[in-house]
Amino acid sequence: MTGELGVYVHVPFCRHRCDYCAFATYADRDWLMEPYVAACVADVERAVKDGELWEATSVFFGGGTPSRLPVAWLARILDAIPRAKDAEVTVECNPEDASEDRLLDYRAAGVTRISFGVQSTATHVLASLGRRHDPASVPLAVEAASSAGFAEVNVDLIYGAASETDDDWARTVDDVLTLPHPPSHLSAYALTIEPGTPLVRDPDRHPDDDVQASRYVLADARLSAAGYGWEEVSNWALPGHGCRHNQLYWRQGDYLGIGSAAHSHRGGDDGGRRWWNVRTPDRYVAAVEAGRAPVAGEERVEGERYELERLMLSLRTPAGVPESALPDADRLDGLVVRRNGRAVLTVRGRLMANAVSAMLVAGREGRAAAVAGAGAPGRYPAVP
Ligand code: SF4
Repeated sequence: MTGELGVYVHVPFCRHRCDYCAFATYADRDWLMEPYVAACVADVERAVKDGELWEATSVFFGGGTPSRLPVAWLARILDAIPRAKDAEVTVECNPEDASEDRLLDYRAAGVTRISFGVQSTATHVLASLGRRHDPASVPLAVEAASSAGFAEVNVDLIYGAASETDDDWARTVDDVLTLPHPPSHLSAYALTIEPGTPLVRDPDRHPDDDVQASRYVLADARLSAAGYGWEEVSNWALPGHGCRHNQLYWRQGDYLGIGSAAHSHRGGDDGGRRWWNVRTPDRYVAAVEAGRAPVAGEERVEGERYELERLMLSLRTPAGVPESALPDADRLDGLVVRRNGRAVLTVRGRLMANAVSAMLVAGREGRAAAVAGAGAPGRYPAVP
């Protein structure tokens, strides 16, 4: 096989659970780390043999907290993955794990990009999110990445925590942008209330939609002024520094998920196949050790529905959608700009991306009603 392929490796271990997090990660299973790494290597080798994994153009270690793994263990998984010469390899890293030694070891192992989970530089905001890292570690981490030679560094932020003021948010964005070596890429996500999290049971900590909208506008303005362009509704990059792995998701490209809860996609002429792995690391290890496929489910997506999903993904990027895919409706005024046959979201449109997506569905006269419930991709498309 040839063509672009992304590999997502899920590392489901965290030091503790943050109050807003609904990802498939665990704070009580560190004893599983070693067999889990061995299972990932075995699963990669099986996928290569079965023709599911050819030269990867990008690899993304996400989680969870991949920097919980000793570098040598992460490198064992990476070494097993056949990669194109210029493959992008990202590791998500807790700022407090980012010693210069660790970052140099990542470089030596073939990692090309580091993504730091920062969320906020205000201690009280981190506390209200149930995050425990010290914001003082953030500038040290980003500088250490630069000293270790990483040209590609991402910082993840979250806005809209109940304890956050406009000033807190502005300072967080400015703190990141005024670092001696600012990151090449920045993601800013609105805090969402997910079922089953401690936050859902605490209405006093729920975000306000209008506040979140104004925080998004502020972030976009400051990032644009600093030379960052938007590459997706929640992602901005300096020119030439977009995340190739995420861009693959947004183009409905092929990706293979390794590890528990990881999702995979393979496109075809008139549709695609998606499958996803068992959710817990225990079951993943047990399945691989027993020689069983760790797959929990799969679906085929075809025809109109597949095309609609492609449009919904593209709408969230500066590529936009063909003008004809959206109705010629007054209610889109100010939400999209139409040029060269394409319709692209404005800043206001990005705030209402889901509503504009719904018009894509309506514009296709309900032929794809089956996808009416499909939303925009989550933060980590490879994790349910
Ligand atoms: S937000 Fe990140 S660090 Fe916190 S529990 Fe979830 S995956 Fe772990």
